[in-house]
Amino acid sequence: MPRDDRTGTDDGEAGGAGAETGAADDAVDEAFGLVSDEIRAGIVRALGDDAGRESPWEPVSFSELRSRVDPEIDSAQFNYHLQKLVGRFVAKGEAGYRLRPAGMKLYRAVRAGSFTREVSLDPFPVGRDCYNCGGAVAASYDDGVFEVACPDCGRVYEHTLVPPSAVEGADERELLDRVDRYNRHRSLAKARGVCPVCASALGATFVRPAETPMLDAEELDVVVRRPCDHCGARSYMSVGLALLYDPDLVAFCRERGLDVTETPRWELEFAMTDRDVTVRSTDPWEVALQIELDGDALELVVDDDLNVVERNRS
Ligand SMILES: [Zn+2]
Ligand SMILES: [Zn+2]
Repeated sequence: MPRDDRTGTDDGEAGGAGAETGAADDAVDEAFGLVSDEIRAGIVRALGDDAGRESPWEPVSFSELRSRVDPEIDSAQFNYHLQKLVGRFVAKGEAGYRLRPAGMKLYRAVRAGSFTREVSLDPFPVGRDCYNCGGAVAASYDDGVFEVACPDCGRVYEHTLVPPSAVEGADERELLDRVDRYNRHRSLAKARGVCPVCASALGATFVRPAETPMLDAEELDVVVRRPCDHCGARSYMSVGLALLYDPDLVAFCRERGLDVTETPRWELEFAMTDRDVTVRSTDPWEVALQIELDGDALELVVDDDLNVVERNRS
């Protein structure tokens, strides 16, 4: 898939999988649009910083707030911008103004540096050969996206939105480790059927790669689709990733010296490719994942709803 065709995704799954999070992204865009104005951003910062107060939830009076943001600003003009935030992001009470939970979330995102600073990292090797072509897989960061990909064939292993503060000045190894852990917590929620955006229950279906907006989906035979009816987030993942935290799989690998809960996901071939996956039937779906280590094999067979219906060791 050409690079320009990528859908906006905040949780691109390894194995080439991407995810659309339309509704959630729209909300974030709207929020940032609202504070793109310098005065409004200043108000959110002034209310979020707890300097001089017991906590950031303690109200601040209008005059104090104005002097914190910019004492020179005209009172009517300041009030105009403040009122744009009141309701969704700022609460107004008798004692003054304070952030609402949505405002606090915004404040933390603004502090983390999202959309405010330009940082990029040139590609550096992650120490793994591409499963597709054997090229040296590299990590890079640009335009708010951290990516682990093969520069030779273009295969994408991780594609995730992180703020510049996460990568600035970081040690390369430590950064790789941290991004993998960050992605894992979202991935675990999705694998367990919980939306990482809104905590609603996710559906589960198998689909053919051609029916998905996934990056490099043609590399896989079958894809697990986990849509959220509530917020509209649509996640796609490989069968190996969907089963990564199965207790039998974790134990089987652990007994043979492979800790799948700590090893970066791009190092797990069964999660990055479909070489260990067999589609037994498509109506209804029945899909088998067989992992071989040290001459032993573990096979997990899942049904249409992603329930493990068979566990075989040989
Ligand atoms: Zn490659
Ligand atoms: Zn959701």
